[in-house]
Amino acid sequence: MENFEELRRLMVQTQIIPRGISDKKVIDTMLKVPREKFIDEKFYNDAYGDHPLPIGESQTISQPFMVALMTEHMKLTGSEKVLEIGTGSGYQTAILAELSKEVYSVERISVLYEKTKSILSELGYKNIFLFNDDGSQGLKKHAPYDRIIVTAAADKIPQPLIDQLTEGGRIVIPVGERFSQDLTVADKIKGSLKIHNYGGCVFVPLVGKHGMS
Ligand code: SAH
Repeated sequence: MENFEELRRLMVQTQIIPRGISDKKVIDTMLKVPREKFIDEKFYNDAYGDHPLPIGESQTISQPFMVALMTEHMKLTGSEKVLEIGTGSGYQTAILAELSKEVYSVERISVLYEKTKSILSELGYKNIFLFNDDGSQGLKKHAPYDRIIVTAAADKIPQPLIDQLTEGGRIVIPVGERFSQDLTVADKIKGSLKIHNYGGCVFVPLVGKHGMS
């Protein structure tokens, strides 16, 4: 059996810190959350590799650095209500739950939703609420949210997500084309978005009503 704690430490030292992640709380969380629990046993020897891995249904668990980068951009203090679109493996969900008050996470594929639900409850998370739905429409029932993260690529920021963000809130989302996007961070200030781009990334497409056309 691998020494996962040691692999996590190596991941942080070689992939996360040298690429500029400096928020201590994010780093501590990357050292804590067991990524191996969110993947299939056959990938255990690669659990902390510097890349995405398949999680079934043609979807992937994101590269650890991308999880850390998006989490750092979320600027969480511990009191936020967070909406995540694209639960997938639930790894990013767990990281967010460590750093915020509560996480509402939406996944459209029921097989992934069911699987991840049992993993996250096994791990004991009480501040995560999962939904099996089209997240491109947000999750109106529990809106508004202080932070929104989308871990699938859109061609523009879906309007329902902008509407469901609090004033002063922030959304982190890959925006662009099918195989090439910019990591986009937008703050909602006086009702409109102040947008920053943080360079290239590649995510699976956000599908659904307000997804990629
Ligand atoms: N953060 C996840 C990323 C999974 S990949 C992880 O690291 O494991 C992106 C996920 O977004 C997939 O599971 C896909 O099914 C989901 N997705 C795509 N479009 C969606 C939509 N409209 N609503 C909810 N989930 C969606």
